[in-house]
Amino acid sequence: MVMHDLKKLTRLINTIILVMVFCLMGFFAISKATFMVWFSIPTALVYILGFFLIQNDRLDVYLRMVYGWLTLYMSLATVCLGYEFGFHLYCMSMIPIIFYTEYMAYKLGRKRVPAIVYSGLVIICYLLSTGYSSYFSPIYSVDGKISMLFWLVNSVIVLGFVTFYSYIMIDMTIKSDKLLTERANKDYLTKLYNRNYTMDKIKDAFADGQLYYIAMIDIDNFKRINDTYGHSAGDVVLKKVASVMETVCSDSTVARWGGEEFLILSLTGSELIEKLRDEIENTPVEFEDQKIKVTVTAGVSSREGFGSVDKWIIAADEKLYYGKNNGKNRVVT
Ligand code: GH3
Ligand code: MG
Ligand code: MG
Repeated sequence: MVMHDLKKLTRLINTIILVMVFCLMGFFAISKATFMVWFSIPTALVYILGFFLIQNDRLDVYLRMVYGWLTLYMSLATVCLGYEFGFHLYCMSMIPIIFYTEYMAYKLGRKRVPAIVYSGLVIICYLLSTGYSSYFSPIYSVDGKISMLFWLVNSVIVLGFVTFYSYIMIDMTIKSDKLLTERANKDYLTKLYNRNYTMDKIKDAFADGQLYYIAMIDIDNFKRINDTYGHSAGDVVLKKVASVMETVCSDSTVARWGGEEFLILSLTGSELIEKLRDEIENTPVEFEDQKIKVTVTAGVSSREGFGSVDKWIIAADEKLYYGKNNGKNRVVT
């Protein structure tokens, strides 16, 4: 979630809470719960101040102040009216929010909030307020039917909040996990697998009983493409060649092995690579109204007869260099 969306969402939640505070203030006035009426005034001010904090990018301070105050407000409401109203339930929704705040502080590079300590304080508020209200009668007595309605509404709000925050947390975790995996395994320019990831795949294939092939593929005269059309054109060529490779070899592991060198690990041998070479030769790369002709040379080596992964790769490499020294634009098996 980007900062802009986060601010919008926080502003919306702040507005909802502020409206809730005013509605509750009216209810406390009707119920003659004088203390809660007076206490609603600083509460409303805290939420109004919240808008300024959101505006000035102080979300971490906002969350700590506003939700801390909400815990106090709900605990006092429990003491005043009794726990049948379900105000104490808000303490439970504070815990995921506190941990979310710690995460936000970390993301924004701000001072971390000790979420465990804050949660401990929330738990104490919960225990004290519900303990008091189950041991003593509430300070203000209100009609029992209304307490049922409050219990229902408060429960729905609290459970909704907990579900919402849990969803955000897990969604963020999954997204960042995907991003990290992508960054760790893929090449930034071509989006093909990188050498690290592919090396693991080759080791797995080597240990596997099936007959795998390694094709080491290098773009011909790539330096000349860079020198003639510029480095940006070179990058476009790399991306285009990568995309052709992915299309033609969709069942294989396609990797950018180094600069303009690629590796394909596949269960199909030279026919597939010959088809790929042909496809690349017949797909000129378009760059700023120019068509750049691209060819590749490949060395293909099957797993058979090699005692180590390194020897297998070197064999494909040697075939590639044989192809480079013997005319280029060809597949050597
Ligand atoms: P050969 O046919 O023998 O392979 O010759 P070549 O010119 O393709 O090979 P050489 O090794 O002489 O040059 C490779 C060039 O690839 C040099 C380097 O600047 C360029 N290169 C490596 N990585 C990138 C990249 O990410 N983008 C661009 N544009 N060029 C790159
Ligand atoms: Mg080359
Ligand atoms: Mg090269």
